[in-house]
Amino acid sequence: MRSASDLDSAIRDVPDFPKPGILFKDITPILGDPDLFKASLDLLAATAGDTKIDKVVGIDARGFIFAAGVAHILGAGFVPVRKKGKLPWTTHQMAYSLEYGEDVVEIHADAIKPGEKILLVDDLLATGGTAAASIKLLKALDADIVGISFLIELADLKGREALGQPDVHSILTY
Ligand code: AMP
Repeated sequence: MRSASDLDSAIRDVPDFPKPGILFKDITPILGDPDLFKASLDLLAATAGDTKIDKVVGIDARGFIFAAGVAHILGAGFVPVRKKGKLPWTTHQMAYSLEYGEDVVEIHADAIKPGEKILLVDDLLATGGTAAASIKLLKALDADIVGISFLIELADLKGREALGQPDVHSILTY
């Protein structure tokens, strides 16, 4: 099995994408390598520990890739949190601040039953704005949030503090 340091070696740093000053962590080399992709999913799935997870929630869009695989490993369902206007049914919405302006995430109102055990998964924790808004959506549905797991955490941005949740896991920290 490949390790976290193998994943680290595969991540491609792309300076000034999508705008000047951002060092973009490109995870596509992990996705394209069967052993690395499997390792990333196994490591994320292991963050659930012994708790039986009912649903893995993935955040639009790279979070879907990992959350769906983790749900398969854990024998759980998959639920998408999407950017505004993409989900067809009745939704709960939550606005959050961006560097310039605001964005909105949504979840289907019937996606999670009260008390269901949830693992929230995304590719990367930066400022934590997206994940914090997703957590608010899950709380509005009375979900039992067992953990919040990221492949990558950019520690300098202190996103972990913005989440205000105990069980935040990251496989790689920069
Ligand atoms: P944030 O809400 O600031 O925590 O941003 C999280 C989302 O933005 C993640 O879902 C990432 O997909 C994306 N993101 C933010 N910063 C980066 C980065 N440096 N490299 C790659 N993706 C990023």
